Amino acid sequence: MNYLSIDIGGTAVKIALVNQSGYVLILDKYSVSFDNYETPILETVLKSIDVFIDENNIHDISGICVSATGQIDVNKGAVIGTGGNIKNYDGSKIKEELEKKYKLKTTVINDANAAVLGELFLGRAKGYKNIVMITIGTGVGGGIVVNGEVLNGRLGIGGEIGHLSINNEGEPCSCGNRGCYERYASMTALIKRVEEELCIKGINGKDIFDRIPTDENISDIVDSWIDDIANGLVSLVHIFNPEIILVGGAVSEQKELFIDKLREKVMRKVMPNFSLDLKVESAKLGNDAGLVGALYYYLKDGE
Ligand SMILES: [Zn+2]
Repeated sequence: MNYLSIDIGGTAVKIALVNQSGYVLILDKYSVSFDNYETPILETVLKSIDVFIDENNIHDISGICVSATGQIDVNKGAVIGTGGNIKNYDGSKIKEELEKKYKLKTTVINDANAAVLGELFLGRAKGYKNIVMITIGTGVGGGIVVNGEVLNGRLGIGGEIGHLSINNEGEPCSCGNRGCYERYASMTALIKRVEEELCIKGINGKDIFDRIPTDENISDIVDSWIDDIANGLVSLVHIFNPEIILVGGAVSEQKELFIDKLREKVMRKVMPNFSLDLKVESAKLGNDAGLVGALYYYLKDGE
């Protein structure tokens, strides 16, 4: 059986035909931000699905699974908050509109929660039942699996690790609070620190890591940034007692300069029993995690 798996992001929507084992058979990508969201994202998604089905001559779809950015009410399959500046997206009734148009059962889950399920299904967390995952990018995405089930919470918006406050007196956050984890642990935060402290402009994450071996100032800032990331994870380890911590985002490909250091800092700070067999690893599926996780959620919870 084949399914349509759709990953709605802030800049593009990925549409894939996947089989029931999670193998991606066909994948296309369409911009959703081409006119600065004047065309609502959901409208673009519906049009793009038609194009995808038509161009690839697809028949016999058994269901539609969606992973979407923003706060998603999993029961209604609707966007109930964006936490950002995406126009014409809040309130989108994704499940209702797709089911009405295609007459196929549709499930919708938040993209960070889908990512951890993708890693559980076919990625680095296969075989584990208690997982904490963070994805480091512009912000910090989070997904938590407890006893094999993703922690959706009452509405589906649970696991918002990026807004765990690690400093009450800290930097103001877009959510209205202060000192949120993503203000310290995101790639945006690292770049901001490097630019401010070293008076550099226009540096990116890759440049920063390339300069670590030869630039002591950069090396110190990155080390302190990894401390901040570790501090948040240590709190999460003490709450959830996971078997594995997964880290996604481009930076997670830096093994010696990042993952190994992060693991060492986390292990040093958690209470001894929590570190028994605890793994700290980079995520495996990269950009496909949402597509694969959306399918896992559909197959496990949606039917
Ligand atoms: Zn916040």
